[in-house]
Amino acid sequence: MNEMSNSIFNNIRVILLDRDGVINEEPGPILSPEQFVMIPKSAAAVARLNARGWRCFVITNQAAFARGDLSESVFQTITEKMRVELEKSAAHIDGQYYCPHHPDWENGHRRTVAKACACRKPGTLLLEQASAEHGFSAEETVFIGDSTSDFAAAAKWGACSIGVRTGHAGRDGKASTEPDYWQADLWEAVEFLLENSS
Ligand SMILES: [Mg+2]
Ligand SMILES: [Zn+2]
Repeated sequence: MNEMSNSIFNNIRVILLDRDGVINEEPGPILSPEQFVMIPKSAAAVARLNARGWRCFVITNQAAFARGDLSESVFQTITEKMRVELEKSAAHIDGQYYCPHHPDWENGHRRTVAKACACRKPGTLLLEQASAEHGFSAEETVFIGDSTSDFAAAAKWGACSIGVRTGHAGRDGKASTEPDYWQADLWEAVEFLLENSS
């Protein structure tokens, strides 16, 4: 997949997007709608994906739930803020999947014994759920993320990935996994996808 040609992304039907650091700025965990600030041109980028007819799903780790810093109702107000911000650019997301877990935390308390879940990226359960519920395969999917856990999840599941230099910019230090491609931000990643598909 390292050869540039017009055929790289010809099978693509679905774009999976990490949220924090890709759609919105990530100064740290997003715990309120006020902290949810869009990355410049990310909404316009999603609008281009919508116009291209590719469905877009958000796949996000939200360990703030496990740490006890985020409730379902507040998370929904943050999701609503995202919807409104996207709508300003006539953009929309077709669905959102999130992992509320953390291996070391549960209900605001540190676990005595670490326990991993299958849905927290680099786990692939959320990707599998999205694909099962919406009928698409890994071969038809590109994952756009800013963290090594995004790239690792995509690779494990068999999907192509694009890393963006916003958010963690791949420098989260959790793993050494590289994406298939690097782009500056979501806007450039979408530009790259559109240029290399027909
Ligand atoms: Mg991220
Ligand atoms: Zn989980």
